Amino acid sequence: MRRKLIAGNWKMNGRMATNESLLAEIQAGLSQPACSIAVCVPAPYIVQCRGLLAGSPVDLGAQDVSAYEAGAYTGEVAAGMLAELGCKYVIIGHSERRAYHGETDASVAQKTVRVLQTGLTPIVCVGETLAEREGGLTNTIVGQQVDAVLEALGAGDLEKLVIAYEPVWAIGTGKTATPQMAQDVHAMIRGKLASKDAAAAAKVQILYGGSMKPDNAKELLAMSDIDGGLIGGAALKAVDFLAIISAA
Ligand code: PEP
Repeated sequence: MRRKLIAGNWKMNGRMATNESLLAEIQAGLSQPACSIAVCVPAPYIVQCRGLLAGSPVDLGAQDVSAYEAGAYTGEVAAGMLAELGCKYVIIGHSERRAYHGETDASVAQKTVRVLQTGLTPIVCVGETLAEREGGLTNTIVGQQVDAVLEALGAGDLEKLVIAYEPVWAIGTGKTATPQMAQDVHAMIRGKLASKDAAAAAKVQILYGGSMKPDNAKELLAMSDIDGGLIGGAALKAVDFLAIISAA
């Protein structure tokens, strides 16, 4: 049985004072969580949050990473830097980065390999737009996104991946995929992973993301291939984030 992972994606939100109160409330509300928990915070706050999370079951993550190890890449953050700062996870290829920052399946694959080489866990985001879903292209698009990463992986890497299926039309919109819609895509993704290595595929956590909230988390998380959630808006309210953790 796969352990579930509830990961918050704070996006470009937070300030020193609100980070402190949010993490204090989350930690105060946790009692022996049955799932793994992470918060993926803006890069400038990683050090602050590492201090606030010392000794806590909540792991730390980043929201993006450079595909390169070091060098003349102004503004970029290397995986080695994130590792040194105590990150365990890195979100890669979030749809906002694909849409606004020109990330492609190829760059997502390159970043995934870099993160794995550094010993961090990539949370690779995949998902279709509304037009793609309505055009019956969900499996094609998500399949291509997954294949690009699979083709780049080295031996033994597959089981170290976390994948987040995030239908773009459900992110921050209040629209959620039904549990069955999400399960169907998760099962398709796991099938793709299994065609590479069935034993490793059975270990990979596939998260759902897209308006997961306390009132829909339980049904989504009950599906057999949904191994957790990548949570945006609801991760910024301790009471909501805690309720989703309890549902897992
Ligand atoms: C996200 O941005 O990864 C996300 C899932 O956002 P939200 O939960 O707000 O839809």
